[in-house]
Amino acid sequence: MPSETIKLTAKFKLKETPKGLDDLFSAYREIVNFLITYAFENNITSFYRLKKGTYKELRKKYPQLPSHYLYTACQMTTAIYKSFRKRKRKGKAKRGPAFKKKVIMLDDHLFKLNLEKGVVKVSTPNGRIALEFYPVKYHEKFRGWKVGQAWLVRTPKGVFINVVFSKEVEVREPEAFVGIDLNENNVTLSLPNGKFVQIITHEREIRTGYFVKWRRIQKKLRTGKKRKKLLEKYGERERNRLNDLYHKLANKIVELAEKYGGIALEDLTEIRESIRYSAAMNGRLHRWSFRKLQSIIEYKAKLKSVRVVFVNPAHTSSLCPICGGKLSPNGRRVLKCKCGFEADRDVVGSWNIRLRALKMWGVSVPPESPPMKMGGGKLTRYEINTLHTING
Ligand SMILES: [Zn+2]
Repeated sequence: MPSETIKLTAKFKLKETPKGLDDLFSAYREIVNFLITYAFENNITSFYRLKKGTYKELRKKYPQLPSHYLYTACQMTTAIYKSFRKRKRKGKAKRGPAFKKKVIMLDDHLFKLNLEKGVVKVSTPNGRIALEFYPVKYHEKFRGWKVGQAWLVRTPKGVFINVVFSKEVEVREPEAFVGIDLNENNVTLSLPNGKFVQIITHEREIRTGYFVKWRRIQKKLRTGKKRKKLLEKYGERERNRLNDLYHKLANKIVELAEKYGGIALEDLTEIRESIRYSAAMNGRLHRWSFRKLQSIIEYKAKLKSVRVVFVNPAHTSSLCPICGGKLSPNGRRVLKCKCGFEADRDVVGSWNIRLRALKMWGVSVPPESPPMKMGGGKLTRYEINTLHTING
């Protein structure tokens, strides 16, 4: 069976940060800025050329520093410089490139992670130091995964270590696809057995709640630190709540799709005509949230060796899944076609997504059966908070 690699980044907050770490952050920032200047002046985007041109001088200046810090600094610099050149070409770069963050990139020579004990050992100019981090339930989740790179990051909330885990998974041939239509307040699934499942997410209510809070803060506090702090606090709460929701949702979706081996999603890098959201809401956040939810579905599916395909989203909610004709509204929720087909809007979307995946996969689509044709199949509704059926 062919295999694929899944990569996930986990974040661990350090309990304490010894003084030596601060010195390391400063030294690393100095080094990266030195490298950036060198890359900029000599127009170097190659890691090897950058390392070759600077190693001796840096080695002399930082004799105690483990040499792999110089390698990762070169890696980071080439990435920073390349993205600077890209922005410059687009006319978006105002100043020259500079590195102001307190970030240190670590490769596998520079750290050793012990998830069970909650300790990470990091090489420093004064030898290896053991850093404790707050316990997270990750050690179960990442048992047997490979540890890749990591980043030490200092933020106003403390020092974190972000670790990339990877795992090889087998990919099997899908037998059929579950079509998934993501909406602002529900997710609708079209199953290969002709049934439809709708999970009510209440995402709109959550968003509206936070939107109102945002507005209130913005009106009350025009400027200042307190305003910024409050907005950040509620922004983070909203993201956390949506994140929890997405994990729950993705688990349910993968559970329903597992026996078929395939999931079809809309390709959101294309036009997003089929996604219906209220204009008053923040469009930026929406793009973030649909992509986020998709990426969670994608990795959870891969872990169960369920294939995920992305289909063209154009007109998925306005064309008849039976004859391909243009649908017209018949009441608030229902769409109908000249051929006699009639179904709920969300049913139509997920149905078309499933059919497109079949076509993409080269499966000839069997003619839909008459009861499905007329009623759009049976629709079962779930509440996300309890995952209890509302009807059916
Ligand atoms: Zn039709």
